[in-house]
Amino acid sequence: MSTAVVVGSGPNGLAAAIILARAGSDVTVLEAADEIGGGTRTGEAIVPGLLHDHCSAIHPMAVGSPFLRELDLTRYGLSWAWPEIDCAHPLDDGTAGVLLRSVGETAAGLGSDGRAWRLLFERTAAGYERMSGDIMRPLLRLPRHPISLARFGIPALAPAALLAGLFRTEQARGLFGGVAAHAFHPLHRPLSAGIGLGILTAGHTYGWAVAAGGSRRITEAMAAALGDLGGKIETGVRVRSVSDLPTADVTMWDLAPTAVAEIMGERLPPRIRKSYSRFRYGPGACKVDFAVHGGVPWTAEAARRAGTVHLGGTFAEIAATEREIHRGRMPERPFVLVGQQYLADAQRSVGDIHPIWAYAHVPHGYRGDATAAITAQIERFAPGFRDRIVGTSARSAAGFAEYNPNYVGGNIMTGAKDIPQLLFGPRMTLQPYDIGVPGHYLCSAATPPGPGAHGMCGANAAQRALRRSRIG
Ligand SMILES: Cc1cc2nc3c(=O)[nH]c(=O)nc-3n(C[C@H](O)[C@H](O)[C@H](O)COP(=O)(O)OP(=O)(O)OC[C@H]3O[C@@H](n4cnc5c(N)ncnc54)[C@H](O)[C@@H]3O)c2cc1C
Repeated sequence: MSTAVVVGSGPNGLAAAIILARAGSDVTVLEAADEIGGGTRTGEAIVPGLLHDHCSAIHPMAVGSPFLRELDLTRYGLSWAWPEIDCAHPLDDGTAGVLLRSVGETAAGLGSDGRAWRLLFERTAAGYERMSGDIMRPLLRLPRHPISLARFGIPALAPAALLAGLFRTEQARGLFGGVAAHAFHPLHRPLSAGIGLGILTAGHTYGWAVAAGGSRRITEAMAAALGDLGGKIETGVRVRSVSDLPTADVTMWDLAPTAVAEIMGERLPPRIRKSYSRFRYGPGACKVDFAVHGGVPWTAEAARRAGTVHLGGTFAEIAATEREIHRGRMPERPFVLVGQQYLADAQRSVGDIHPIWAYAHVPHGYRGDATAAITAQIERFAPGFRDRIVGTSARSAAGFAEYNPNYVGGNIMTGAKDIPQLLFGPRMTLQPYDIGVPGHYLCSAATPPGPGAHGMCGANAAQRALRRSRIG
């Protein structure tokens, strides 16, 4: 029987482990933390019983993941829950751009911009399921559905600022800009629309779901599936050097490329070691979990029913603050994402106290505490919010890097999404999962298709390993 070791138990590490175990390999996953799951952990932070997602919260990409769908994790207790409204983007005048799963209903709410929204999303959302196999793998491949992919890919090449020009109202421009800002990439640069278009199109297909019971349920279910296949997970084992690795036919690295360069050292071919050492990380995130009595008193009524609320004002304001963080400056009013998962999943609350998940975009490695800035942004669109806060728990960008070494400088994307890294992955190659050492593969979110709790990087990397190694 062949053996495989997976370093890291994030969704990508576990996806790789499941595929290798299914192929008949004896798989061991080594996880540095005391708990599995990487960016999908959930826990109590402020009030006993109140459930906070530590990292990922909203899962259109996981619901639509070809690998997770085929795995059918409902057998292991995973279920999805949807809020009434996917995302609201409130403005200072009390109105909001509102995103719903249906393209038609979203368009209807956007008034004169409804036609442009339809133009951008109607056909791509209708073809998303077909096309997802093409966009959830390395991009530079012959597409299986070239027409659907071109319909999606041509706008995705554009700067988000250019596409925002399709809209006249601040509601539609803000709504689009808030989602485009998920890329942590300046909105005037080419390809800055790509990640936002991907999230919006997946959302129009599957909705912005949360995992019932918390995001941890995703990787708990994956771990149970792995256990059924005979795979083992060891927690509290940090791999610091090659000598920490058991001998195995295949080794999968669910880590940041710089960490792989450090651990593998001279074992890596010099050109690959150099590329990994120079891998670029984008801006960071500062997060605050709030326990809030009675929920957030948003002025815009739609925001009271939305699973996600984006705070940053107009498109122009978001573009300006995103530019600031890229220059290494902390803006007074950063872009903030707020999660109200309890609206879809009531078991996360304790009576009338609700968990509110929020993070701000901040400069790379920012050491400051953004609690005041995040609270002020929420208060701006929900006067009276401060008076309802029961407690808070914060993690700075530097704190994220300590929590999980994959978030270098607090960069929760495991790498900057600039043009070369978005198109090729961690280095300029058509084989982004290969690290140049026989039997070793990179499978983290630094590889295509990139960040998210969808497991597709791990699934693709493991398929590559199966094609190249003798497993079974
Ligand atoms: C604040 C925040 C919000 C997010 N929001 C969303 C969201 O709403 N939706 C979404 O889809 N995604 C979101 N993400 C991104 C998502 O969580 C990640 O893209 C995803 O978890 C990446 O999975 P991964 O398996 O590549 O790595 P990770 O989940 O980071 O897992 C890597 C694992 O490797 C372990 N490890 C690291 N070094 C070592 C070592 N030397 N030895 C052994 N183990 C090691 C780590 O402890 C970790 O468990 C968010 C992330 C953060 C931080």
